[in-house]
Amino acid sequence: MSRRVFILGSTGSIGCSTVEVIEHLRSIDGDGSWPVVGISAGSNCELLLQQAAQLDVEAIAITNKAALKFKNIFSNSEELLKAHAEPGDIVVAAIVGFAGVAPVLTAIECGCDIALANKETLVAAGEVIMKAVQEAGVRLLPVDSEHSAIYQALSERPNAEIAKITLTASGGSLRNIKTEDLSNATVEQVLNHPTWSMGAKVTVDSASLMNKALELIEACWLFDVKDDRLEAVIHPQSIVHGMVQFVDGSVIAQMSPPDMKLPIQFALTYPKRVDGCSPKIDWANHSTLQFEAIDKIRHPAIQLAYDVIRLGGTAGAVFNAANEEVVESFLEHSLPFGAMVPIVAEVLGTITHSENVTLEAVVAKDTEARELTRKIISSQKVNS
Ligand code: NAD
Ligand code: MG
Repeated sequence: MSRRVFILGSTGSIGCSTVEVIEHLRSIDGDGSWPVVGISAGSNCELLLQQAAQLDVEAIAITNKAALKFKNIFSNSEELLKAHAEPGDIVVAAIVGFAGVAPVLTAIECGCDIALANKETLVAAGEVIMKAVQEAGVRLLPVDSEHSAIYQALSERPNAEIAKITLTASGGSLRNIKTEDLSNATVEQVLNHPTWSMGAKVTVDSASLMNKALELIEACWLFDVKDDRLEAVIHPQSIVHGMVQFVDGSVIAQMSPPDMKLPIQFALTYPKRVDGCSPKIDWANHSTLQFEAIDKIRHPAIQLAYDVIRLGGTAGAVFNAANEEVVESFLEHSLPFGAMVPIVAEVLGTITHSENVTLEAVVAKDTEARELTRKIISSQKVNS
């Protein structure tokens, strides 16, 4: 089998893993298979050009305008898609953050299936995206490992048969740090993730458990469940990625070593499965699988996710925007680790939420939340 592919955010962690998967699939399916029509990135022109040559890509897009020499170049992913996408193509959405929303919508409108890594897109604009998916009749395939696991465990069984969806969380880089030391964790400590190698933002989100909060909201949209059928548990080994308990009490889990190439490949070849290029489980090395409840006092991000789910409307856009801003400030060493989640909570509690969820409303709330978050961050700097 083979499909025409776009990789948005190709120079990032998921983007680079996707390039590896494509090379692997080409080695199975032969010359000319798995054509990569277009790739895009925000920066890192050098790597983008290298990938374009390696994959023999037709067109590229780069937002951080540079004087690049390439036969077919666009200034953003939307332009690239509008010029080259055809119904039935598959677009790997691996841009980080809210910047992924517009390209995903464009891809859907072009009739492409989406392999979605960019969770922020569903958190901020879930209602808009799901409506567009329905109208266009395209497939939205999760790449986030937990959601890929749930998708695999569900195997298209009816929603009414789902009793509970459980997402696992590694606990992030600070899992073994005492609660009283958490608030002063350094950027270096936070970026040192024990089981997953990922981009900076998602690694920070993993440490604050904001990643799991975003994923709970993402799961609501993907699987049409609310907070009463959704939970997250700590699972330090990152072997079980997600589980579905069905109404009869049976639980189906998906397991594999922590490597994003598996969920990426699953989305690309769906509904087929082919030989995988990520490591396989060696049970001799995994004699212990632990699960523990998440301490909601230590990790207030989880409660915020449930608040966002109950609030609905544009609450997700506000939550996501505030989080993107605090993470950026933390990574610039201008905000303590422990200040991030309380600021997100303050922004979520201050901004009024609109029920009318259009793309324009989402963009407006995103802007409003970012402005308020920056204001709070700078007032904290003045006071400290
Ligand atoms: P990353 O920071 O490594 O890469 C982000 C990519 O997006 C880069 O290629 C960057 O140039 C590109 N980009 C940023 N702004 C852009 C724009 N406006 N237009 C085009 N490209 C732009 O991030 P990552 O770790 O690969 O994560 C990507 C997404 O996948 C995130 O939403 C993350 O939450 C999600 N995700 C990542 C992992 C993982 O293992 N890394 C796992 C699950 C989900
Ligand atoms: Mg995940």
